[in-house]
Amino acid sequence: MAEILYGRPVAEAITAELTERAAALAGSCVEPGLAIIRLGENNSDVAYEQAALKRCARVGIKTRLFHLGADAAQSELLRAIEEVNCDEAIHGCLMFRPLPGQLDERAACETLSPDKDVDGITGPSMEGVFSGTGHGFVPCTARSCLEILDYYGIPIQGKRAVVIGRSLVIGRPAAMLLLARDATVTICHSRTPALPNICREADILIAAAGRPGLVGAGCFNPGQVVIDVGINTTPGGICGDVCFEEAENRVRAVTPVPGGVGAVTTAVLCKHVIEAAERRLKQRN
Ligand code: NAD
Repeated sequence: MAEILYGRPVAEAITAELTERAAALAGSCVEPGLAIIRLGENNSDVAYEQAALKRCARVGIKTRLFHLGADAAQSELLRAIEEVNCDEAIHGCLMFRPLPGQLDERAACETLSPDKDVDGITGPSMEGVFSGTGHGFVPCTARSCLEILDYYGIPIQGKRAVVIGRSLVIGRPAAMLLLARDATVTICHSRTPALPNICREADILIAAAGRPGLVGAGCFNPGQVVIDVGINTTPGGICGDVCFEEAENRVRAVTPVPGGVGAVTTAVLCKHVIEAAERRLKQRN
């Protein structure tokens, strides 16, 4: 039977470490602050916001909410982002996306100060991820995958990794993080033929396609570690991209959905806010 890689202990370990770092910042009179920009009342955004607020409260991160209507104008959104940029008490900003269709998402992302871009949405953050300089911040979900691998002691260097999905939010940055840790990485996408053949070769398989049941028995090998990033709402409930029941008997380890990657992302978000606050303090001193 596969080891089940639960996200909760990973998140708890990160939270414990962050609580100490927040206390150290408090010793230097810095209270880390996170702004959350949400447009409309999308259920999953609201649920994630609640989880983030809870996690921030535990770590010792102050939060400021910017709730705009789903029909907000571009100027209104840009004003909120400018306010975030100017507020010295805010070290990081989470903006829920995709934005409603009337808005120019790229322009909004590029308005955010790169120093406060704790979810890797600006050009400078992406450049940091892709050039490997370590500047900026990696999108939280992509980093969560690596946090899980590290927590459970799964080696990355020299391993064959396959990432399904090429979005800028998960697939591509996750692939870059694995590459930076000396894995040999293949990125698969919707036009990749013979997906199972490629997946079967992987020591580490990250599924981030948003397709329930995409990764089944034919994709696995007994030594494989499978990280399921997918969150899909089906008539039967929430599920990932991986057929969990088929993976359980065929791989070395697998993350559950829910309770896997999704359970780690708010902890990583807090980690980035603390890092942003520490960076600012360092610049000041
Ligand atoms: P996206 O739609 O932007 O990208 C999906 C990617 O999957 C694309 O690159 C596409 O080429 C690829 N793909 C689609 N169908 C495929 C197929 N049949 N074979 C191979 N590749 C295929 O989605 P995203 O924003 O990257 O999110 C991916 C999934 O991760 C979604 O289910 C989303 O809900 C989930 N998600 C999870 C978390 C978390 O915390 N666990 C956070 C954000 C998103």
